[in-house]
Amino acid sequence: MSEGSKQICSSCKKSDLPLHFEMKICPDCLFKRAGHEFKTGNFVAAIELHQKGVEFDLSLNDFQGAELNLQGIALARDRLGDYEIAEELFRACLDECRERGYDPKSEHHYLCIILDYILEKRNYDEVEQICNQLLAIQRDLGYRHEEALTLTLLAWSTLNRENKDLEKSEQLYREAVRILLELNIPLDIWFHKHGYTDPDSNWNFPPKEIPEDFRKFWKYKEEQQFTDRVVVNFENRDDGSVVITYERTTPVFGKGPL
Ligand SMILES: [Zn+2]
Repeated sequence: MSEGSKQICSSCKKSDLPLHFEMKICPDCLFKRAGHEFKTGNFVAAIELHQKGVEFDLSLNDFQGAELNLQGIALARDRLGDYEIAEELFRACLDECRERGYDPKSEHHYLCIILDYILEKRNYDEVEQICNQLLAIQRDLGYRHEEALTLTLLAWSTLNRENKDLEKSEQLYREAVRILLELNIPLDIWFHKHGYTDPDSNWNFPPKEIPEDFRKFWKYKEEQQFTDRVVVNFENRDDGSVVITYERTTPVFGKGPL
């Protein structure tokens, strides 16, 4: 990056950061401004600013920054109801993330979001593919609760398929119950209703009732999603809507690779 571009950011007043040629603000202030537009419901404005952010970050070789701006565009597209475009953009984020090397937290984050779109489409083949990718990462990161949720989802998906594998489904549910008990996390009422509370006792399987609403088993969206440089909050409202906010942290410019 050229030294000549380092003037004072008109927003945060810091002087050691590169500034956007037109807006005269640093990359993080540009990101913050886009995030503010998003938060106040101006999704089109948020997309425009994030697009500038992608270009700016790429010009600084901050590929992760560009990826986070791309995610901002994806989140805004989702809010606008452009679900197919949003899903494609999240997949592009995942590709970028994998391109950077193994970043399990970011990969986990994107996979969880992509899984939401696939669940809406009831594409069980892909649900299983993504669940298996998630399980590997969750075991790596020691995300035990998430691992149990993914096992439950995988078991549910296996039960819903046309060529269902009852043995596999039961084994997955047992594994999930075992982890939840280990973690002292209360089992969902569905498990109690069917007597699936002891992973080592006899179960009357398959269940009388397969939950239709997969969303109650897929709870990642209610929780904060952390990656190393971005925090995305998904907050569920009583009316069923989800409020999303996000912010990212500043990389250190000019000190080795970003
Ligand atoms: Zn700034």
